[in-house]
Amino acid sequence: MISEKIKSQIGGEMVIRAMFEKGIKMKQEFGADNVFDFSLGNPNVPAPDAVRDSIVDIITNTAPQKVHSYMPNAGFPEVRKAVADHLNSRYGTGYTPDNIIMTAGAGSAINLVLKSILDAGDEVICLAPYFAEYKGYIQNYYADVVEVGPMDDGSFYPDCEKLAAAITPKTKAVMVDTPNNPTGVVYPEPVIKEIAAVLKAKEQEFGTVIYLISDEPYREIVYIEHEGELPWLPDYYDDTVVTYSYSKALSLPGERIGEVIVPDAADGSKELIGAITTCNLLTGTVNAPSLMQLVLARCLDEKADVGFYRKNAELLYEIVTEAGFEALKPQGAFYLWMKAPDGDDNAFTDMAAKHKILVVPGSAFAGPGYVRLSFCVAHDMIERSRQAFMDLGAEYK
Ligand code: PLP
Repeated sequence: MISEKIKSQIGGEMVIRAMFEKGIKMKQEFGADNVFDFSLGNPNVPAPDAVRDSIVDIITNTAPQKVHSYMPNAGFPEVRKAVADHLNSRYGTGYTPDNIIMTAGAGSAINLVLKSILDAGDEVICLAPYFAEYKGYIQNYYADVVEVGPMDDGSFYPDCEKLAAAITPKTKAVMVDTPNNPTGVVYPEPVIKEIAAVLKAKEQEFGTVIYLISDEPYREIVYIEHEGELPWLPDYYDDTVVTYSYSKALSLPGERIGEVIVPDAADGSKELIGAITTCNLLTGTVNAPSLMQLVLARCLDEKADVGFYRKNAELLYEIVTEAGFEALKPQGAFYLWMKAPDGDDNAFTDMAAKHKILVVPGSAFAGPGYVRLSFCVAHDMIERSRQAFMDLGAEYK
């Protein structure tokens, strides 16, 4: 018998996977070219050549004992140094290898941080709509998810007044994800400053520590014009911990590689780094995949082809708006957030599936009334989906 807790989680968080599997079945039934699958954020841009060249070179020319062995739970020291140096040159920070813990992707990074800071009954705030798995991750540690809705001006920026009202003495962390999954919105600097100001004020009011967990798998995938780098959140709020992933940045999601960055300024940073490292062991992950650590240390300046995603974003936005739908123009990540015309995202998802368009209902992200379309797909699939969107739009006219 599986546990009651897992039973309750299987329905909700698994919606995206369920859509993905539905897509596989529909493709078998109708033919792959006749199904327009926008369900899963699985990058379809190939990893940069440097990644494959590094894999070949490392397995050919590095001693197998080095490539395939255990190493310290936080990762290879030289890889953590390479990551720290890279961040220092980008953000003018002064990180050392001690501030970096290599992880099996962002999913593991977030779990390690949560496991390190949460006791049963603690609260973690998620800024809705948010990445569906956060909920399950938080519940893994018997903590409570507190959802805070966005501004009601259609910007999908967090509503900082509501955020302030939701913080209690039990609030241990706030999850922030910009560029955002599922909305494709990038928070500008004033929004980051506002979040930081709210958290600082609440830490003072309650005499507690509230970590800002900045989950950044889409940091490199940005379409809007901005000057230089996106804001680096630890510059705005000391108790920030960054969870990062190479899944999207280097198109390597199956390889499971990412990191946690705990700056010295974060409260109890040394203990936190120790706890996160131990949790790598306690969760049974032990360490981030060794070959991938060595690979990414050589590929830190590489990026997936953002131009490809930008073209997809533009084409999909053009098609859905032409079909009469209201949508947010993607600013980053690879998601388009579209309004369900009659406000019922589940019914709209079913109607879209009848036209062989697979989307994920916004309710799965605590964003009812909208659906998410993931456009990390072949450009020609988007082009071929045009008529299906026109037909779907006609259903609502
Ligand atoms: N966080 C967000 C916002 C994501 O969208 C994803 C994956 O889609 C993850 C974390 C997990 O990424 P990873 O593959 O690095 O575990």
